[in-house]
Amino acid sequence: MTLPNTPAILVTGGAGFIGSHTVVSLIEAGFRPVIVDDFSNSSPNVIQRLEQITGKAIAYYTLDCLDLQGLKTVFAQETISGVIHFAAHKAVGESVQQPLKYYRNNLDSLLNVLSLMQEYQVQDLVFSSSATVYGQPDNLPVDEQAPLKPAESPYGFTKQVGEQILRDACKVSALRSVLLRYFNPIGAHPSGLIGELPLGPPNNLVPYIIQTAAGLRERLTVFGNDYATPDGTCIRDYIHVVDLAQAHVQALKHLQKQTEASYCEAFNIGTGKGNSVLEVIQTFIQETNQGLPYTIGPRRAGDVTAVYASVQKAEKQLDWHAERSLAQALVDAWRWQCSLK
Ligand code: UDP
Repeated sequence: MTLPNTPAILVTGGAGFIGSHTVVSLIEAGFRPVIVDDFSNSSPNVIQRLEQITGKAIAYYTLDCLDLQGLKTVFAQETISGVIHFAAHKAVGESVQQPLKYYRNNLDSLLNVLSLMQEYQVQDLVFSSSATVYGQPDNLPVDEQAPLKPAESPYGFTKQVGEQILRDACKVSALRSVLLRYFNPIGAHPSGLIGELPLGPPNNLVPYIIQTAAGLRERLTVFGNDYATPDGTCIRDYIHVVDLAQAHVQALKHLQKQTEASYCEAFNIGTGKGNSVLEVIQTFIQETNQGLPYTIGPRRAGDVTAVYASVQKAEKQLDWHAERSLAQALVDAWRWQCSLK
């Protein structure tokens, strides 16, 4: 049960795909999330859906994190004990076309959050990072010690720079931070009430699969089957968004337990298992009995052959591991897609 005067956890981008699922997990764990979202890549309906799922009123502010004064009002009005910072642009291809938009938005919003955390003496920050920081790792499964590779896109670079900003800031202030390196988040809440809502044709595999199965796209193109993998298609670590959401709660609890300021650690958040594109397609067809027209096309620029996580650090230190299967994630994603009709 959440007490009325429980300090708030500020969730920037809390109406988005991962943010909304994290809000549910926070409430289930007894935290009081307060959302800041500009709804530029999410729907205001998400708020009612969150209320339906949790049975709680959801506090939210319609606000762009670039609006420093607006954000300051939130820090002034709420008693905030921690921040989970999701708000960012995330389309890899668009970031190549519009790099300045990505640098301005993703970096300035982080800087705004950090300056207000300092001003209002808020110590704990969970940051959305990404497995893209590893590029194609030299060793698999990739662990957190692996060197970061030159970013393939401005989007990826904003995650690397964001991590560095936090490492630097933690060294010289009371800030404590966990950097969560997400592998491939998929799936949806089992209620079918919240999920991923891509604007326009999806770039990511699972949204493309479910929209194709629903007849919204003619066919899925598999981007290359000549990679050095058992079936020739790329391998990724697909993690259910509900498991991912729970990792944020564990990260927050972990930060609250730290006795020292300046704590800053990165954690891989994946399942530890790799699946090929063809395995994902076959699992989807098996689990849902849907037809899924697909063809093999050329490779997509910037794709790495294989990446999947070593998850030992998160297991040991965050007391977290993924519990949901690929099949479950695909069934949940399909239920969500069907609810949109
Ligand atoms: N992929 C594909 N067809 C699509 C979208 C993605 O074959 O329409 C492949 C892509 O080449 C990669 C995998 O699916 O091997 C996961 O891609 P996604 O964009 O979902 O995530 P990424 O790992 O690139 O961040």
